[in-house]
Amino acid sequence: MTVAIEPLDLLLIGCGLRGTGLVTAVPELLERRVAIVEAGGCLGPGSFAEYQIESNSSGSDFFGWVDPRGPFGDVLEHPDVIALRTTPGNFRLSLLARALRHVGAAIARRLPPSRLVLGDRVVRVNADDEQITATLASGRRLAARSVVLATGIRETQRADLQPWRDKVILSSQIVKGGEGRLFGDDPPTPIVIVGSSHSGYSAALRFQEAMAAHPARRCEVIVVHRTPVKLFYTGWSEFEASERYPLEAIPDPARDVCPETGNLFRYSGLRHGAKALFRAASRQEVPWLHQIHCRALGEAAPWLDRAAVIIQAMGYDSNTLPLYRNGEAVWSGADRLVAELGADGCLPPGPGRLFVMGMDPYPYRDNSLTPTGQYALRGKQILSMLG
Ligand SMILES: Cc1cc2nc3c(=O)[nH]c(=O)nc-3n(C[C@H](O)[C@H](O)[C@H](O)COP(=O)(O)OP(=O)(O)OC[C@H]3O[C@@H](n4cnc5c(N)ncnc54)[C@H](O)[C@@H]3O)c2cc1C
Repeated sequence: MTVAIEPLDLLLIGCGLRGTGLVTAVPELLERRVAIVEAGGCLGPGSFAEYQIESNSSGSDFFGWVDPRGPFGDVLEHPDVIALRTTPGNFRLSLLARALRHVGAAIARRLPPSRLVLGDRVVRVNADDEQITATLASGRRLAARSVVLATGIRETQRADLQPWRDKVILSSQIVKGGEGRLFGDDPPTPIVIVGSSHSGYSAALRFQEAMAAHPARRCEVIVVHRTPVKLFYTGWSEFEASERYPLEAIPDPARDVCPETGNLFRYSGLRHGAKALFRAASRQEVPWLHQIHCRALGEAAPWLDRAAVIIQAMGYDSNTLPLYRNGEAVWSGADRLVAELGADGCLPPGPGRLFVMGMDPYPYRDNSLTPTGQYALRGKQILSMLG
């Protein structure tokens, strides 16, 4: 079925944290003819609806971009939003999902029903010189003067783990609660986690929780470190006063100290439970967890051969979708890439109407732990383009 409607000013594709942040930071956008297409059943929670892990951020990092006197000011009074924002440190990501659900509902209330599409996904975007057209899975088509892609990030199987593909599981499956399936009466062992970022150590934390709940069921977990691990410190003096670990990255004062906060590895360092587990394992205090260092994956082959299950925690890519510009394919939709943007927030080359929000894998490349500043920046870029 094809439904033709008058071209919109702006079409937002995907409305998780980033889409929600964009609209609530710059509510003037909703004064234009805006439509939102969200593949899920509601606006707001996006991927956080599924994560069953602790955050790598603090509750107070969120919703500071909402003007208390603006049209979304009342969401700051909601108990779920207050509960999140008053959490001083890390928190269960389901708390963020709950807060985002309320903010998403507030956005939905401000859109006419004809301009809110839930439970349908965009399967192709044609960005032509005159107009951008999005085709949905249902066959519906929406035309707009400008589009924001806010479809998030995804994890795909890496070619270098192909020899072991039959026993590879993605870290995202574990952080979404998939360890329950693995952790039956007879858990597989050993489990090898390849990658030592927040995703890798979050997966290990899930096994720690499972073993605490079922003390009789034990498994051995091996984390393969290919590069030294960055740990977050509030400042240089905290780093100097702390114990050093053989697998720990040594910060470069010229590059790794945030000029704004003085934090070390502000955006990429392990924090909270992940940091504590890394340190305890480094001190040999975690009998079930072993860390090994391999400069190349080939060096880890003996552990990978022996593994009952391999968890890939080697990073995320942009969740792209088939994108054509004047008939030429820009993305196939299956590409493993990070969306590279111009200074105007648009995908180059082009007429500057195809904006992207948050399709760069966490941590963000603008040296922030959360993308707060990006929401207002991108929203203002879009408003100025719309004229
Ligand atoms: C292990 C892990 C821990 C993390 N911890 C934190 C943290 O503590 N704090 C933090 O800020 N970030 C954290 N992140 C990053 C987090 O994933 C992102 O910050 C957040 O999900 C980004 O929101 P988003 O809106 O870009 O993407 P998403 O939340 O994934 O939202 C994208 C939305 O687009 C929709 N969508 C996708 N494709 C289509 C389509 N074709 N058509 C229509 N809709 C579509 C989806 O349904 C979804 O709702 C973590 C990431 C990982 C992997």
